Amino acid sequence: MKRLLAPAALLVLISWAGLAAAQGPAKVPQRSDIDPRYKWKLEDMYPTDDAWQADFKRLEEMIPRSAAFKGKVGESAASLLAALQLRDSLGLVGSRLGSYASMRRDQDTRVPKYQGMSDRMMGLNARLRAAGAFFEPEVVAIEPARLEQFLKDPSVPGLAVYRHELDDIQRTRAHVLPKEEEELLARSSEMASASGAIFSAFNNADLRFGTIKDDTGADMELTKGRFARCLESPDRRVRRDAFWAMNSAYARFNNTLGACMNANVKRDLFYSRARKYGSALEGSLDPSNIPVSVYQNLVKTVNANLAPLHRYAALRKKWMGLDTLKVYDLYTPLVPAAKVDVPFELAKKEVVAGLKPLGDTYLAQFQKGLESGWIDVYETQGKTSGAYSGGTPTVHPYVLLNYSNTLEDEFTLAHEMGHSMHSFFTWKTQPPVYAGYSLFVAEVASTGNEALLINYLLKQPLDKQRRMFLLNHYLEQIRTTFYRQTLFAEFEMRTHEMAEAGQPLTAEAMNKLYRELFQRYYGPDLDLDSLADYEWSRVPHFYRSFYVYQYATSYAAATALSQKILNEGQPAVDRYLAFLKAGNSAYPIDVLKTAGVDMTTPAPIEATCQKFSELLDEMEKLWESK
Ligand SMILES: [Zn+2]
Repeated sequence: MKRLLAPAALLVLISWAGLAAAQGPAKVPQRSDIDPRYKWKLEDMYPTDDAWQADFKRLEEMIPRSAAFKGKVGESAASLLAALQLRDSLGLVGSRLGSYASMRRDQDTRVPKYQGMSDRMMGLNARLRAAGAFFEPEVVAIEPARLEQFLKDPSVPGLAVYRHELDDIQRTRAHVLPKEEEELLARSSEMASASGAIFSAFNNADLRFGTIKDDTGADMELTKGRFARCLESPDRRVRRDAFWAMNSAYARFNNTLGACMNANVKRDLFYSRARKYGSALEGSLDPSNIPVSVYQNLVKTVNANLAPLHRYAALRKKWMGLDTLKVYDLYTPLVPAAKVDVPFELAKKEVVAGLKPLGDTYLAQFQKGLESGWIDVYETQGKTSGAYSGGTPTVHPYVLLNYSNTLEDEFTLAHEMGHSMHSFFTWKTQPPVYAGYSLFVAEVASTGNEALLINYLLKQPLDKQRRMFLLNHYLEQIRTTFYRQTLFAEFEMRTHEMAEAGQPLTAEAMNKLYRELFQRYYGPDLDLDSLADYEWSRVPHFYRSFYVYQYATSYAAATALSQKILNEGQPAVDRYLAFLKAGNSAYPIDVLKTAGVDMTTPAPIEATCQKFSELLDEMEKLWESK
């Protein structure tokens, strides 16, 4: 009960801040109040809005040119090349227009002009997609031997650069159906998205979680946003009430949600069988050319290395002074937030110092990016919330932040700049066709930077409180991004396998499976309530099948890479730069091999489990000497 004081005091502070915001000096600044050094330079894309309008008109006029290639893509090497080049130039102009409009909108969402420009851009993008829809099917239809002739045609040398992309499109030949069947499949897609749409409407619009008493004893309607905060409450009663209210809401609709998930899994089975894949998993991974063994390897290796997570559960129970550790005890911070103020200038300095192991080439460009209008740093009135990395290949990357001087913000800077540097090196090196990168590798450069930063910070002479806070942050990141997402990935794999084996995928069967996984991952020290069984039914990501495993694999790859960089130095740095420069010029698994991690092997997964174990050792030492 003595804990009640702190949150009550916090509430007073918040309402005071709210008052101040409405009245005067502490209010969120206007953009015009911010020093230009801390604002992004969107003029690098278009000097004026009129220049944007002119380019928009130019793109509109270019679109009909692609219709000339319809039915003719495979006619000759020259025709194929011309179609590819037109597509690339349309894409580049579209990307620049789209980036400018959406970033102008995001810097102040209250300006109708920029809302309008983004809306117009969305419409134009849809027209671009529709105008080019014939392209891929026509490439698939080219006989491989004939395509090889095209690629070797000395009179059309420009085609050679497209070899990897053309191989990638042709690779799926065996899974493309005759024209009429493809049309039927395309027409079924809207109907097939019903399970996800129903879940989303239920989950976001209809479901209510009732009212609980907050930290101060006042009534509070539970929402998903508040749920996350309740689980971090130092007051166990609040955590338990929130957990019970949330999970019993889903439990009441267990059969409905079971039927919904069953339909979702059956959809995957339908498409994978229609396309002649061996399994739903294979059908889902094949578009990115990820071998099924990568997924299986993740699940298998994590299962062989659950001991550190079991130990974490046991230590958490001990450190929190609990007789039994419940699911609602997993999220509350082990140490209170270290109150450190990290102004942006200090964050820049620390991030640069943390990334020093990446070498001079990386650092010089990183610092140039920090100083040359890539970043929009501070919150201003009307600015969109959160953080992201964007930009366009013909200009440079951009980062949006809402920097508010917290340690969390410092990590966000390292993370988003990681994405931006990945884009920068890829854009500088690759032709437009390979200027993107696959989702499978997208979070490697960002989480890799975070890993280097935290390793650097932990080496500094910190006071014990701050060190323990950082260790807790690191442990929780590995638990939630790596272990928990692998648990989800295994749940997806097992449910699809059950359906493929003809077993009924009922709510009851899924409750049982989820409970078994939950207990297996966390070990005997986690005391599962019956309500924990229903957690699967509130995970929206399951409606984007076989997606979450990439959080775990990206995290493992980033951990392994950052360790190689710290341990091996230059050779590892060179390989890492080659990875950053590769973009989509090769398949994601091969691109990561270039960097020195082979995601078909247990090593990077084991390295992450090992890291978790070492962090736990250090935390235990600090805890014992408290
Ligand atoms: Zn990210």
